[in-house]
Amino acid sequence: MSFIDGKTLLYHAYENKYGVGAFSAHNAETVQAIIEAAEELRSPVMIQVGQKVIQTLGMEPMKALIDWYGKQTEIPVCIHLDHSRKLSQTLKAIQLSFQSVMFDGSSLSFEENVEITKYVVKTGNELNIGVEGEIGKIGGTEDDITVDENEALITGVEEALAFTDATNVDYLAVSIGTAHGIYQREPHIRFDRLEEISKEVQRPIVLHGGSEVPDHLVQKAISLGISKINVDTELRQSFTQGVQEYWNENPKGIVLADSLGAGKEKMKDKVKEKIKVFGSEGQADHINYLNRSYHYNL
Ligand SMILES: [Zn+2]
Repeated sequence: MSFIDGKTLLYHAYENKYGVGAFSAHNAETVQAIIEAAEELRSPVMIQVGQKVIQTLGMEPMKALIDWYGKQTEIPVCIHLDHSRKLSQTLKAIQLSFQSVMFDGSSLSFEENVEITKYVVKTGNELNIGVEGEIGKIGGTEDDITVDENEALITGVEEALAFTDATNVDYLAVSIGTAHGIYQREPHIRFDRLEEISKEVQRPIVLHGGSEVPDHLVQKAISLGISKINVDTELRQSFTQGVQEYWNENPKGIVLADSLGAGKEKMKDKVKEKIKVFGSEGQADHINYLNRSYHYNL
């Protein structure tokens, strides 16, 4: 097993100018798809537990599932809580030894967001758990929560700096023109703003809404300081497509291992594609080489 805390992993990516895919998992097959793809390309990987899966399967069973598969691999794996909007839930994930948590206080006032994020950073860091915070509002729909496009606010440089100074958050999610869910048109990413923020905050920046963003734009974002790219929608599309293709060919197929297995294979291909775009292929060996002692939390 090689579980790695989010801070160590993302600083390695930040310093070496590559991106780590933070892929959302929804069931056993999606966990397998992510880990097998990462293994085949010798890439570190973050596996995200999101709000939807917490509502359905529950946080603890999902964590236990990822733990089991994570223990079988030598690839650095970081289990991350995505978009927690409640302190009690964030603390629950810390209690369960996630290696990384996000507290999303973007719907709160600046002061409240700072206050809670600061507390999570202090608590998480005591236990070698990386903490992500968010400043600015990211548009689109995720886990049943919709942020209107007009309401989505591009993160300001000064607020980003004030937030990181006040919280010392390990990595920062910003709003620079990407959105959760499916894009109606090609996203207009504010690279100018990303560059300015990155120069000021001097730490890994997180890109949410990474699905369907053209590869060259993601790579440009990585060159400007993005170290973690969240991908969920596009993986669910691949998984669903695999299952649908299976059922087209086998309309009476009721062996779930086969239909879900077809989804898994399709999703695995997509994860591999993303890993190559993000530049994390082969990085697992460098991290293991540099950080033999980074085995935390279990
Ligand atoms: Zn997000």
